Amino acid sequence: MRVFASPRHQLHDPDHEIEASRLQQPFEHPGRAEAIRAALAADERFVIAEPDEWGTGPIEAVHDPGLVRFFASAWEEYQRDVHPAHDVVPDVFAHRRLRAGMGDGRGEPATIAARLGWWCFETTTPLTAGTYEAARSAVDSALSAARCVLDGESLAYGLCRPPGHHATDSLYGGYCFFNNAAIAAAYIAAESGGRVAVLDVDYHHGNGTQQIFYERDDVAFVSLHGDPARAYPYHTGFADETGAGRGAGSTYNVPLPAGTDDDAYLAALDRALTTVDALDPAVVVVSLGVDTYAGDPMCDLEVTTRGFGRCGQAVAALGRPLVVLQEGGYADDAIGANVSSWLLGAVGEAVSSP
Ligand SMILES: [Zn+2]
Repeated sequence: MRVFASPRHQLHDPDHEIEASRLQQPFEHPGRAEAIRAALAADERFVIAEPDEWGTGPIEAVHDPGLVRFFASAWEEYQRDVHPAHDVVPDVFAHRRLRAGMGDGRGEPATIAARLGWWCFETTTPLTAGTYEAARSAVDSALSAARCVLDGESLAYGLCRPPGHHATDSLYGGYCFFNNAAIAAAYIAAESGGRVAVLDVDYHHGNGTQQIFYERDDVAFVSLHGDPARAYPYHTGFADETGAGRGAGSTYNVPLPAGTDDDAYLAALDRALTTVDALDPAVVVVSLGVDTYAGDPMCDLEVTTRGFGRCGQAVAALGRPLVVLQEGGYADDAIGANVSSWLLGAVGEAVSSP
């Protein structure tokens, strides 16, 4: 199986994240991707390669070019104009209720302190010196995996870090800067002329991917996630969000209760896969978060390592080409086994883990 992974992800290395009213060691840290890489490298069924460099064109097909420009210089501007800081985080968010007409007309503010809250929506996602380069490398891995599948492979995996599915067309947050899955899906739709489905199985709702494609009919979005009535990102992912305009009916959300175990998860996944199949996509992009794991420190579902293999098997049974891209997963001691189990399940290998 082809795997694309870049060591440049390590350039995004926050010291802290502000989460649940605590300043704490980051859940989203370089060791996550290193653990996945080590698990795959130890198994000869996986062939790991560095991604090609793709430039900013495919990113700007999905994101506001202003966001790309902001990432390219924001950290250094903050050091110069505010004060030296390893992790750069907004103080004030440009909330629409701050001022009548907020967001209309006046556009991006001038100072770096104000621009942070213009482009970012929450507090867990610091910018560090190498964040932009790391985020670019994650996009490169996603696009290289997409290209590989367009060229005829039935499955390719992009070990993307930082993850992407919370980033909207013009906002970053939730550990995400560029939306790797959305960029890959838009690229595949443009290159193939066929329909694409993004299947998001991360614990958290992929609000960014949903927002990007909400009014489009060429890329559908199907997501299983912790019910936003209790789970981050709280404001999106309810079952009544089903798309709009040309995209009406091409968004499908399945909120899940706490404690959902393998059998209950597989039953929900089967329903989602019936929806994916009815959309008749030429390619399925999987946003693979393994934070649905029973031992995940931030989440409350109960999927096991073996259960991930069953999930991969179920998704592969669609019989459609798969571009699988890494999103979340925060149980450092199990993330490698969980990703490996999912991928091996998808290529029909026996899953032996408990
Ligand atoms: Zn997640």
